[in-house]
Amino acid sequence: MNPTYSRRNFIHTSMMASAVLAAGKHLVASTPAAKPGFPVADYHVHLSPTLSIEQAIQLGKDRQVQIGIVEHPGPGYPINTDADLKKYIDGLRNYPVRIGLQPVYAGWSKSFSKSLLDELDYVLMDALTSPNSDGTWLAIWQIDTHVDDEEDFMTRYMQFIEQVLTTEPIDIFAWPTFLPVPIAREYSQLWTRPRMQRIIDLAKARKIAIEINEVAHVPDENFITLAKRAGLKFTFGTDSRNQNAAHFYYCYQMAQKCGLTEADMFVPKRR
Ligand SMILES: [Zn+2]
Repeated sequence: MNPTYSRRNFIHTSMMASAVLAAGKHLVASTPAAKPGFPVADYHVHLSPTLSIEQAIQLGKDRQVQIGIVEHPGPGYPINTDADLKKYIDGLRNYPVRIGLQPVYAGWSKSFSKSLLDELDYVLMDALTSPNSDGTWLAIWQIDTHVDDEEDFMTRYMQFIEQVLTTEPIDIFAWPTFLPVPIAREYSQLWTRPRMQRIIDLAKARKIAIEINEVAHVPDENFITLAKRAGLKFTFGTDSRNQNAAHFYYCYQMAQKCGLTEADMFVPKRR
C-alpha cells in the first residue's frame, strides 16, 4: 500500500478519536471561532486523487485562505531525486501557492542539492516517524494498541523531537506535542512544563515555527500561550488531501483564545 494513503487513512480514522480525547478539556461545545482579522494560510495541504491543484486553489479562494502545498520526499514517496524535486517545484511555480516539502525520515535532505532545496518556500516536518535502534522506524501516529511504559515512551519521543529540532533543516515543526491514542488522554500530565519549555527553547534557537494542527488538535492552549510568550511564530495546518483544505475550526479557536495576531504568524518568503 502506498504509505501516503495508509497514513492519510489512519489519521482520518483513529487519530480523530485521539484528538478528541486529548483536547477534551478545551473542546467545549460553543459556536465556532470567527476567522482571525489577519491573513490566514493553510501551509499543510497535500495534493491527491481527491484534491487537484485547481481544487485546492478554489477552496483557498472560497475560504479566503492562502494555500501551501507539501509533498513527502523519501523511500515510498514520489520525490527521491533532484530531478523529482525540480519537477515538483516547477509544476507548482505558476500557481498562486507556496511550495513546501514534508520530509518524514530524519536525514532526508542528504538526497537533494542545497541549491534546489533553497527553491522551496518552506519545509515542514513532524516527529512522528521515530528511528528504532535496529534501523526500523516507529510510526508514532500509528500506535493504536498500547504503550508499554509512558515515561519511557516520552523519553524516546523527546530525544527524537530534539534531534528533529536541532539537526533537520526545517521551517515549521508540524504535529507538535501529538500523542498516540493509548496515552492521548494523559496529555496534560505527560506534557510537563519542562518538556514543553525544551521544545520551545529548541524551536526558538533555530527560528522554527510551530504548526497548530487542525486534525490532531495540537498543541493545546497552554503550549501555544507559552510559545507565544517566548516569541515563537505559528502556522495553521489541516494536513488535508480533500475538501478539508483551508477549513479551520480548532486553529481559529486557538487564535482567539491565545490572542494570536498577525505578528505571531509565520509567513514563508516566496522564492
Ligand atoms: Zn502532511
